[in-house]
Amino acid sequence: MSGFRYINETIAVTIVIVAVIVVYLLWKVKPVPGAEISSGYGMRTLNGSTHFHNGVDLAAPQGTKVRSILPGKVEAVGFDELNGNYVKVKHRNNSSFYGHLFKTTVRKNQTVRKNQKIGEVGNTGYSFGPHVHFIIWDKEGNTVDPEKSNLVRI
Ligand SMILES: [Zn+2]
Repeated sequence: MSGFRYINETIAVTIVIVAVIVVYLLWKVKPVPGAEISSGYGMRTLNGSTHFHNGVDLAAPQGTKVRSILPGKVEAVGFDELNGNYVKVKHRNNSSFYGHLFKTTVRKNQTVRKNQKIGEVGNTGYSFGPHVHFIIWDKEGNTVDPEKSNLVRI
């Protein structure tokens, strides 16, 4: 009977391990924990001109940790006048972008884990208060509304 119990325990341990893996895979990362959406995805009017906002703005105090929503490889780390300090991560089927960072904490071509810190919230580039401009691209390279995406929690 002890052999039978051993098999049962092995099955139980296997079930727990599989459950942990499934929970990890289904778990949705918040790119900026505690952030408020200060501007949504879609058409918007800013200073009298209408343009398409290709991501969401996630407002949070400067220095708040910014996390990669999925595992992947850092495709770009840089600075430009619009996005300030930014990080772009290539995932298996998507890409994600994090702009206006106070600082970046990853290098180009670095492999990142799901939920790994990639930088800190800032106010760099064309920005009026600390926030992250967060973009998700699908497989075809089209932006999607992060609030409607099943890849993240916003
Ligand atoms: Zn934005």
